[in-house]
Amino acid sequence: MKKTFLSLLVLASLYSCNKTVKTDAVSEEFSDIHFENYKEHFVDELWKLNPGWASSQGYHKYDSVLVIPDDAYEQKQLQFSSVQLDSLKKYSLENLSDNNKTDYQMIKNLLESITFNIKEVKSDEWDPSGYNVSSSFAEMLNGNYDSLEVRLKNISLKMDNIPAYYEAAKKNIKNPTVEHTQLAIAQNLGGISVFETDLMAAVEKSKLSKEEKEAILGKAKTSVKAIQDYAAWLQKLDNKTPRSFRLGKELYAKKFDFDIQSGYNAEQIYQKAISQKKELHDKMFVLADKLWSKYLGNAPKPADKLTLIKQVIDKISLQHTTPDKFQSEIEKQIPELTAYVKAKDLIYIDPSKPLVVRKEPDYMAGVAGASISAPGPYDKNGNTYYNVGSLSGWSAADAESYLREYNNYILQILNIHEAIPGHYTQLVYSNQSPSIIKAILGNGAMIEGWAVYTERMMLESGYKNSDEMWLMYYKWNLRTICNTILDNSVHTRNMSKEEGINLLTKEAFQQDAEAEGKWKRVTLSQVQLCSYFTGYTEIYDFREQLKKQQGKSFNLKHFHEKFLSYGSAPVKYIKELMQNEKM
Ligand code: ZN
Ligand code: ZN
Repeated sequence: MKKTFLSLLVLASLYSCNKTVKTDAVSEEFSDIHFENYKEHFVDELWKLNPGWASSQGYHKYDSVLVIPDDAYEQKQLQFSSVQLDSLKKYSLENLSDNNKTDYQMIKNLLESITFNIKEVKSDEWDPSGYNVSSSFAEMLNGNYDSLEVRLKNISLKMDNIPAYYEAAKKNIKNPTVEHTQLAIAQNLGGISVFETDLMAAVEKSKLSKEEKEAILGKAKTSVKAIQDYAAWLQKLDNKTPRSFRLGKELYAKKFDFDIQSGYNAEQIYQKAISQKKELHDKMFVLADKLWSKYLGNAPKPADKLTLIKQVIDKISLQHTTPDKFQSEIEKQIPELTAYVKAKDLIYIDPSKPLVVRKEPDYMAGVAGASISAPGPYDKNGNTYYNVGSLSGWSAADAESYLREYNNYILQILNIHEAIPGHYTQLVYSNQSPSIIKAILGNGAMIEGWAVYTERMMLESGYKNSDEMWLMYYKWNLRTICNTILDNSVHTRNMSKEEGINLLTKEAFQQDAEAEGKWKRVTLSQVQLCSYFTGYTEIYDFREQLKKQQGKSFNLKHFHEKFLSYGSAPVKYIKELMQNEKM
């Protein structure tokens, strides 16, 4: 099916191409050079149309512009989409390099999804939380890409449009969902401190003239009032028939295709998640049953299988580090993982690009655990950091609960996922085939899917092999499986909150607080929760398929290196390119 799709595309572009198609090396190269120019032009236009997005990616030419989300702007976006799609048609996929082939597909997907979002999803009508200016101003205040004075001047100009921005928002909003309305009120009011506190402090310490300072403070007052008005307007909104937060089957299926860009559709992934949940429960029962006496001695075994599993998991979770040692424990594991990956010949890791482990910077504080900070597309020489959160200042009870969750077993899986050979390793490879398009539009399902894939791959290779490790891994993996089931069930199958919480706490062994948080997230987002499991499943299935086809000649290390060499492209396109190469 995919093949047909691809050849149709190629065919369409052949007919629209005004040159005769040559297949010799010179014209291929020529086509690639043209396409490189096209991409540059495309990104210029993209940033012109989306100044806020540009700033967030480290492109600061349009920092002073706040776009007013009115009808005229919507028309501009539709226009952009159709003009750029026309331009794309001039290129024939078959004449492009692999890197450009995937860039082409990703640009095309973005352009088509612009129209889909405006004409079909219409979240600008039902999601009032989409209108919020504070975070873009906060980013400019905290950024150190330019002097404070230059940033403040841009902030000053950008503030001019805030009242008009919220007026346009009010015009767009029709029957918003209750959940997004509440979120919009809370987040907009929460963001006021950016203008009332942070901006004031920055202006105070700047070298701007007295007049300039006063002008900014005056605009800040006007901005705060516009935000407060918007929140008050939402609070009083006569919303008799609010839209449901559930997206509905038809839109969900389409949004899944656009956002995930998988070879599987939403329904196929849902069915796979359902059957994997069952499979994991069976495997977990075997392990927990075996481990019962080690952890619970002669205590009578509960009749219910899931209860039995949970009791064993709870006992194993007591093996954890202390708040003091949390960071050093994570740091210690990085070189261990690197050495293991090398010894087992799983994938080459470039030693010249070491991961910089650091204490989580203050502005990120609050999210404990670990995360990767990669340099943006316009900051190529920046370091890649592994941010490790600190538990200092946490209450004893909170720290204990957190450490049980990130116990000695799960903490290692977290390091595999975030660092080696997960996100960090993928990043090193993607930087070797640099693409501005993939830096901006990188496929989330591929990126998360790779990290989730490596967890299983590492355990399969024998990493810290034990029944406990596998049981805890399955518990961890159930999270991504159940995220997918939850997301699909809530948005297309009317799953109730009670059923949702039950799924997460009883079947995925989550704490109540985590389950409540997840429920909230699924009422506010759509599809994104599926990206982890979908990407993982697609990579894993592809690997198994190749193993079968290649038999003894299959080489795991080559598979990993080849797979990552295409950068953060959707798995279905990587798969296509790898398969073509084989033939
Ligand atoms: Zn404890
Ligand atoms: Zn991740």
